[in-house]
Amino acid sequence: MQHYFGTIVDGHAILDSAQRHHLVDVRRAQIKERVEIADGADVFLCEVVSLDPLDILVIGKSEERRELDNELILAFATLKSDHNDLIVLKGAELGVSRFVPFVSERTVVKPKEPEDNKILRLRKIALEGAQQCRRAITPKVDGYARFIDVLDIEADIKMFAYEGQAGNSNSLLDIAKSVEKNRSILVVIGPEGGFSDAEAELARDAGFQFVSLGRRILRAETAALYAASVLSAFSEEGK
Ligand code: SAM
Repeated sequence: MQHYFGTIVDGHAILDSAQRHHLVDVRRAQIKERVEIADGADVFLCEVVSLDPLDILVIGKSEERRELDNELILAFATLKSDHNDLIVLKGAELGVSRFVPFVSERTVVKPKEPEDNKILRLRKIALEGAQQCRRAITPKVDGYARFIDVLDIEADIKMFAYEGQAGNSNSLLDIAKSVEKNRSILVVIGPEGGFSDAEAELARDAGFQFVSLGRRILRAETAALYAASVLSAFSEEGK
């Protein structure tokens, strides 16, 4: 069944113009066709009752749980080429709730503005990823943050994936295994060139736990998706 994001008002679903265009012009929906509409919290089973004007009636609420039991915030140093797109698309499928692309000392391509076309593109990709795997929410994509702003993000568990920690005993996997339901988790992943000593020191002072992602040093985009995959798996296991 096709999945869209919209707003529910008085038992009817309202779509924005892009979602409407997809349903009516691209998918060529038919009257009586059933679709799922997510409103950012719940997923509703709906039926198209008219196409012009578009009218979508809510028939019921889906009881399927598709979100993780934890809010998962992935802060990643913005990368070269299309690696950011990959992190957001696959991270959205894995259940990330919020992406925070940030600029650190060794970021190779430093954006000039906090919001640019690449950020707008990442938001579109987050929506596509969430739609494809029929999530109840569209993950949020922040504008570019500075490294020091990332240190101030509120979360119950704050992890700093540090290459200097690779193979050491404090692993993200161990922490993921013991995280309780409903606790928010923030993971920070560095750029291609890694974090500087000064950044690591600031993160330690800000109360982050330094974690290993295993024995091998992963490419930054692999590191981000490894962290999202492991946390997603254990969040669904439920404590
Ligand atoms: N150039 C750095 C070096 O050779 O040490 C490697 C940086 S790595 C490509 C990019 C980021 O991925 C790191 O800053 C870190 O956040 C994360 N990362 C990759 N492998 C990791 C590991 N085994 N343990 C912890 N973090 C890791």
